Amino acid sequence: MDINQTVAKSLFADCRCDKCGDLVPFENNAVLVDMEINGVDIGHLFAQGRHLMPVYEDGVMICPGSPSRAQYIKGQPRDTRGSYPYRLEDEAEWREAYARVLLKYGAESGNA
Ligand SMILES: [Zn+2]
Repeated sequence: MDINQTVAKSLFADCRCDKCGDLVPFENNAVLVDMEINGVDIGHLFAQGRHLMPVYEDGVMICPGSPSRAQYIKGQPRDTRGSYPYRLEDEAEWREAYARVLLKYGAESGNA
């Protein structure tokens, strides 16, 4: 377990989404993907979690997640709100970071 992972596990266990208020499992926490890309910084210590991918319950979207970030994940729609246009040069970085989050936290989360 690397230092980022140790920090993330203590900061984001049982954390709630700042958009919808539901629990955010590690593997769907947008902040952890940010952390993979940028490393841990002071902002992360105060960050609330946020769903990365949209969350559905009985076919109804209960949280849009973070469309500006999720748009980089394969199969997700582009963010059409205008403020965060798709940057092809960022695609590989985001996909690799998300893959690392799934590897690190996916199997053992227990936080869903
Ligand atoms: Zn949410």
